[in-house]
Amino acid sequence: MRSHLLNDATADRYRRSVSEGVERVAEHLAATRRPFTGITPQELAPVVDAVDLDRPLGDTSAALDELQDVYLRDAVYFHHPRYLGHLNCPVVIPAVLGEAVLSAVNSSLDTWDQSAGATLIERKLIGWTAGRIGLGPSADGVFTSGGTQSNLQALLLAREESGAQDASKLRIFSSECSHFSVQKSAQLLGLGREAVVPIPVDRHKRMQSVVLAAELAACRAEGLIPMAIVATAGTTDFGSIDPLQEIAALAAEYGAWMHVDAAYGCGLLASRTRRHLLDGIERADSVTVDYHKSFFQPVSSSALVVRDVATLRHATYHADYLNPRRTVAEQIPNQVDKSLQTTRRFDALKLWMTLRVMGADGVGELFDEVCDLAEAGHALLAADPRYDVVVAPQLSTLVYRYIPAAVTSPAEIDRANLYARKALFASGEAVVAGTRVDGRQYLKFTLLNPETTVADIAAVLDLIAGHAEQYLGETLVHAAS
Ligand SMILES: *Cc1c(COP(=O)(O)O)cnc(C)c1O
Repeated sequence: MRSHLLNDATADRYRRSVSEGVERVAEHLAATRRPFTGITPQELAPVVDAVDLDRPLGDTSAALDELQDVYLRDAVYFHHPRYLGHLNCPVVIPAVLGEAVLSAVNSSLDTWDQSAGATLIERKLIGWTAGRIGLGPSADGVFTSGGTQSNLQALLLAREESGAQDASKLRIFSSECSHFSVQKSAQLLGLGREAVVPIPVDRHKRMQSVVLAAELAACRAEGLIPMAIVATAGTTDFGSIDPLQEIAALAAEYGAWMHVDAAYGCGLLASRTRRHLLDGIERADSVTVDYHKSFFQPVSSSALVVRDVATLRHATYHADYLNPRRTVAEQIPNQVDKSLQTTRRFDALKLWMTLRVMGADGVGELFDEVCDLAEAGHALLAADPRYDVVVAPQLSTLVYRYIPAAVTSPAEIDRANLYARKALFASGEAVVAGTRVDGRQYLKFTLLNPETTVADIAAVLDLIAGHAEQYLGETLVHAAS
C-alpha cells in the first residue's frame, strides 16, 4: 500500500495517475453537450449505493471508470454556456493548475512551520486585494472557505469591537435582499432573533438609506446599540449594489461597524470599466470577497479583508503546541492567529497562479463580458412580451418571469414558471435558477460564463416559454374535461 503514498519513490505513479484523471476530465469536458443529463436522485442513488466501499478496486483506471458512472457523467457542468443557474463560475485553467499543486504539496496555512512560502503568498494576495479596495496601510485579512465564513468572522469582529456587555442590545442592519448568512451569523454569535433589522430596498433592489437612517435613529432612541451595517455589493438575487457612500456616512455617524459583503461584486475590483460601481467600499471596516464567484476560481476561494489589522485579534487564541505567544514576539507569521479555521487549505495559490498567468485585467475582462451580456439579455427580456423582467442589472443576474398571453390567475402563473424551471432541469438542455419577488415565483439567470451568448439566452427563453405553455395548455385541458 505504500506505493500509493506520494513521495520521492512514487513520482511516476503520481504522474500517471493524475495524468489519467486529467485526461478523463478533459475528454468529458470536450464531449459535454448539455449542462446536465437531467438524472433524478432516485435514478442516481442506486448507482452510488451499489458501490461497496469495503471492496476497493485497487486500480486507478477501474476507479476512474466507476467515477464516470457515479459522478462525471451526470454532474452539473458550469462550463457549459447554458448553465445559467446559481453563482457558479466556469474556472480558469491557471487556477485549476494551482489546485493540483496545492493538493499535492498539501501545505496547511495555520502556521509558518506548516507552510513557509505559502503563508507569504496568501499575505501578499490579501495585501493586493486590500489595495484594490483602497483600505489603507493598516489593512489585513485572511482567506476563508467562503462568503458565509467571511461574513461570520466580520460580524464576530464587529460584535467584539462594539464593546457591549449585553449582547441582546446589539443590532445589525442589512437590506432585505442581503445574504441569509447575515442572519445565520447573528444567531451563531448569540445575538438573538431580533438582532438583524431588515432595511427595505428601492425599486433597483438597493438598500434605502433614508430608511436606514431612520432605523438607526430609532435604535439609538430605544437605548439599543447599532453594532454593524452590512452593505451588500452585489445582492445574490439581483446583483444590486447598496449605496456604499451613504451607508459609510451613516456608519461613521452612529459608530457602527461597516461591513461590505462583496461576495459577488468583488470581480469589479479587477474591472477596468466598472470599478466605480464599488465607490465607497474603501470606507468599510471589513469586506467579504468570494474569488470563487467573480474571479473564476474553483471552490473554495474567499477572503475577509479588514481595515485595521488590530481587529483580527478577536479571532486569536494561542495553543502551546501550535502558535505559542512567543511566536508573536519572534515575528513568525502564523495565519491561524487571524482565522476561524485551524488546518486550512492553501486556496490562495489558485488566485496567485491566475494573476501571474492572466493578470487582474484578464480576470476583469471576463467579468466585464458577463456584465455586458446581462445588459444585452435585459434588453432582450424587456422587449419580449412573454416576459416580465424585474430590474436592469448592475452586475450579471436577470430575474424575470413568464407571463402568458391569455389571462390566468397569479397562482397559475407561479406554477407555470416553477414547472418550466423543473422541466428545463429535467431535460438537461439548460439550468436556470428561481427565486421569489414580492411573494411571486420568478426565474433567474446568473450569467458568469463569458462563453454564453445572447443567442443562448434567447434559445433558453424559448425553451422556458415552451414548457410554461405546455403546462398551461395541459391544465386548461384538464380543467375542461
Ligand atoms: C454567495 C454569497 C454569500 C455566501 O458565500 P459562500 O461562498 O456561498 O459561503 C454571501 N453573500 C453574498 C452576497 C453571496 O452572494
